[in-house]
Amino acid sequence: MNPFSQLGIRHDIVNAITELGFENPTPIQEASIPVLLSGSNDFVGLAQTGTGKTAAFGLPLLELVDFNQNHPQALVLCPTRELCLQIANDLNKFAKNIANVNVVAVYGGASIMDQLRAIKRGVQIVVATPGRMLDIIGRKAIDFSDIRYVVLDEADEMLNMGFQEDIDEILSTTPEEKKTWLFSATMPAEVRRIAKKYMTDPHELTMGKQNTGNENIEHEYYVVRARDKYAAFKRIVDFNPEIFGIVFCRTKIETQEIAEALIKDGYNADSLHGDLSQQQRDKVMKRYRERSLQLLIATDVAARGIDVNDVTHVINYSLPDEIENYTHRSGRTARAGKTGVSIAIINQKEVGKIRQIEKVIGKRFIKAEVPTGFDVCEKQLFSMIHKVHHVEVNEAQIEQYIPRIMDEFAEMSKEEVIKRFASIEFNRFLDYYKNAPDLNAPEERRGDRDGGERFARTGTRGDFTRLFINLGSVDGFGRGDLLGYICNNTRISGKTVGKIDVKGVYSFFEVQNNDVDQVFNGFKSTDYKGRQVRIEISGDERNESRGGASKGYNRREGGNRREGGRDRRDGNGGGFRDFSGKRREDRAERSKRW
Ligand code: AMP
Repeated sequence: MNPFSQLGIRHDIVNAITELGFENPTPIQEASIPVLLSGSNDFVGLAQTGTGKTAAFGLPLLELVDFNQNHPQALVLCPTRELCLQIANDLNKFAKNIANVNVVAVYGGASIMDQLRAIKRGVQIVVATPGRMLDIIGRKAIDFSDIRYVVLDEADEMLNMGFQEDIDEILSTTPEEKKTWLFSATMPAEVRRIAKKYMTDPHELTMGKQNTGNENIEHEYYVVRARDKYAAFKRIVDFNPEIFGIVFCRTKIETQEIAEALIKDGYNADSLHGDLSQQQRDKVMKRYRERSLQLLIATDVAARGIDVNDVTHVINYSLPDEIENYTHRSGRTARAGKTGVSIAIINQKEVGKIRQIEKVIGKRFIKAEVPTGFDVCEKQLFSMIHKVHHVEVNEAQIEQYIPRIMDEFAEMSKEEVIKRFASIEFNRFLDYYKNAPDLNAPEERRGDRDGGERFARTGTRGDFTRLFINLGSVDGFGRGDLLGYICNNTRISGKTVGKIDVKGVYSFFEVQNNDVDQVFNGFKSTDYKGRQVRIEISGDERNESRGGASKGYNRREGGNRREGGRDRRDGNGGGFRDFSGKRREDRAERSKRW
C-alpha cells in the first residue's frame, strides 16, 4: 500500500502526488497528516521551509473540504505573494484529479478585480497574503462565516513583516469554532503569543530541535576586512564555478549596487528587491528559476517564500538585522533533502554575531579561509576540464568543421592540443589571480588562535610581513597605542598596518612588504624610556617576505587590470567598489539591535 494511502489520503490525491515524485512522506507529513486529518485539533507545527510543509497541511485540507459546496471553507494566510502563488499552485496540483476544486490566490501587486471575479465565481480554499485579504474583506466581497480551517503559514515571517493586526482583523471575521493550524520555522515569543491567542490546546509538533536549522546545511563564515568584502565574495564565487546561489543584502540599495557591480564584472546576476515592480520581480525570478541567472541578489523581504530547488549556496553578504532571519535565509538552500552551504562574509567585529546565530540554530559554523588566487585557478581549470568531459556534442552541426579542425592540429600531439585548450581559460584566471593578495582578515580578539595558527603555518600573509618589536603590554602598549607609535616613528599609514599582536615584553605587527624598509629606518635609532627599540622580521620568513617586497607586490593588486578589460575576469577584483563606508552608520545602528 502507498505510504500516503496509509496515512489516510485518498487514491485520487495519491495518484497526483506520485506524479509529482512524492513517493514517501517527509517526516513532517508523516507526523502531521494523521493529526490534521482528524479535523478536530488546533495545531502548531514548528518546521523549516523546504521540509514538505505545504503538503503536510495541504493534503489534509483537500480531504476535509467539501468540494460539492462552493463557498469558502479554508483560508491559508502566508507572508508573501511568491509563497501564496506557490501554495495555491501546489494545492491545485495535489487536487488535479478531484472535481470542482476552486482554489483562489489573493495577493497584492496584481489586479484586485481579477481576484474579486475569481472569488465571485466560487471558491472553497482561499490562499492569501494578509494585506490584500483585508482589502477584499473590507469590500465585503467575501463571506468567511463558514470557514472551518485557517492555516497560518510561516507565522514568524508574517509577524516579522508587521501583519499582526491584519491577521487579528481577518480572523475576527471567521467563526469561533474553526480550527487553526499554525506553521512556523522559528518560535519566538511573539509566535507563542499568537498561538496562545488563537488556539485552544493545540497539538504541537516540532520537527527536529526547536529553532534549529536544517541539518543538511553547512554553515561557514569568512572574516575579511570591510574593504576586501566584495573581492572576497567574488573569489568565493569563482572558487565555486557551479554555484547557484542567493546572496542576501540588508538594503535595497546594497542589493542593487552589488548586482550592478557583479553584472559589470561579467557574472550572471540580478537583483530582487521591493523597489522593483511586480512584473520586474517576476521576470528576475523566471530567469533565476530557469538558471539563466547564477546569482540572485536579494533583500530578506523580497526573497521570502522563494521556493527554488537546488540552490547550492546562500551567501550572507551582510548579516541580517534580526538573528531569526538567518534561519529564513539559509532555509533557501538544502530544500527537499538536498544539501547546501550557508556562507556569512563578515568583518572582525561581527564574529560575536556568528556566535549568537550558532546559539539560535544550534549548530556550529566552520571558519573558512577565503581561497587563494591559486586555489581559484586550480578549481576553475578542473571545472573546465569536467565540462569538456561532459559537454554534449552536436554531431550534426560540428561535423562539417571537423576535417578543417583536424588539419589545423595535424602537427600537434594529443597532449599539446589538450594543453592549449585548457590554457585558454586557465591563462585568464592565472593572469588575473597571479598576484592576488590574501583576503582573510585576522579576527580582532587578542590572542586569537585561528589567526595565530594560520600565520605560523603560512609564514607570510600574501603581501604582508610580520615584524617583531621589543615593546609590549608591560610597557603600557595596547594595540591602538602600538599602532600610533609605529605610525609616528615610521610615517607609514595606519591603514596599511595589518594584524597587531601585543604580548608581554614584545609584540608582533604586520606591514606591507614594501613598507618593511621604512619601518626599519624609522626605528633605526629610537629609544623607548631609555631602551633601544629593536625590530626584527618575525620567524624565518625573512627571505620570503623580502623577496616579496623586492618583487613590488601590490596589496590592491589588479588596481588597473580593469582598464581595457572586456571579459569577465578582467574586471574582477581590480575594479571592486567599497560599499562599506556608506553603511558604517547603519552598521552601528544595527549592532545595537543584535
Ligand atoms: P515545502 O516545504 O512545502 O515548500 O516543500 C519543499 C519541496 O519539497 C517542494 O518542492 C515539494 O514539491 C517537495 N516535496 C514535498 N513533499 C515531498 C515528498 N513527500 N516527496 C518528495 N518531494 C516532496
